[in-house]
Amino acid sequence: MSKNVFLPSAKAICIAAFLSLNTVVYAQKTADISTISEKTLSSILEKNRSYYTEGKVADYIPELGKMDAQAIAFSVVDKNGKIHNAGDVHKKFTMQSISKIIALMIVVSEKGEANVFDKMGYFGTDKPFNHFSNLETTGKPLNPMMNAGAILTTSLISGEGEKPFLKILDMVRYITKNHAIDYNKSVYESEKSTGHRNRGMFYLMKNNGLISGNEEQLDNYFRQCSIELTAEDLAKIGYFFANQCVRFDGDSTYKNEEVAKLIQSQMLIAGMYEFSGEYARTVGLPSKSGVGGGIAVSVPGKMGIGVFSPALDQHGNSSAGYHMILDFVKQYDLSLF
Ligand code: GLN
Repeated sequence: MSKNVFLPSAKAICIAAFLSLNTVVYAQKTADISTISEKTLSSILEKNRSYYTEGKVADYIPELGKMDAQAIAFSVVDKNGKIHNAGDVHKKFTMQSISKIIALMIVVSEKGEANVFDKMGYFGTDKPFNHFSNLETTGKPLNPMMNAGAILTTSLISGEGEKPFLKILDMVRYITKNHAIDYNKSVYESEKSTGHRNRGMFYLMKNNGLISGNEEQLDNYFRQCSIELTAEDLAKIGYFFANQCVRFDGDSTYKNEEVAKLIQSQMLIAGMYEFSGEYARTVGLPSKSGVGGGIAVSVPGKMGIGVFSPALDQHGNSSAGYHMILDFVKQYDLSLF
């Protein structure tokens, strides 16, 4: 046996170096979720703060146009229900379309999934949130995440007058354990007086026999969109659906694995509207955005993320919010895929 056999060949050295380099790169790339801290969140927030310049604050609801474009907040409720916050954590904003997942939870719990999805689809979409041409073709909304389906969802919640809205408000207060939450009356009035496109959808669905009530039901949708909360409240909502509808403090009054799966599947396929497919590729987590600049994210079986920055991209999703989520998900390797 020659002496050479015991010496690593140049090729072996290269392979070993490559493997150890890879391990180092991997170790740097993803961190353990137990290391999440306000410091981690702050550094991600600062890195992405300037993305607001790439977006535009929504002003099609005039009152929303008054929001401070530079406000930014980032919250996480970790696996143990511990809250971590960074940025403008006390800044309130309206939840807008994020309220659609709460309304869906309530109506499915009352009527059963089959009865609700008899009237609307489970479809993903390549269309913006206020698209409704399928009401002309198939006669039914594509899914409960876009406005048409959400308006129908709220109209199906039982109760007269503002009762369905109050159920949504109570559920948001319960999930966040924040009883000070209420709706912003100026934003509500502003949307009610300008929301003619939503009004059009309401009447098309009434014409199609899907809605039987009057415009009070549409007012409930406008009110739910005007519910005001913080990024921390959104992180608690994300946590709730990530954990079978168990609250961040462990309260299991509404525990329901099936409802949580349904809501998260809808968030995944349509929660970011026509950006949902690309978002599934880059972030890979059930998420719901609103034109108020918030995004609620569920990390299934683990945690909830809430972000806020009111400048929106062309799809109506928070620009800086998306980039903060993206960095956080990469850092902790949280994508489902
Ligand atoms: N209130 C808004 C609307 O109906 C909600 C839309 C959104 O947040 N994407 O237009």
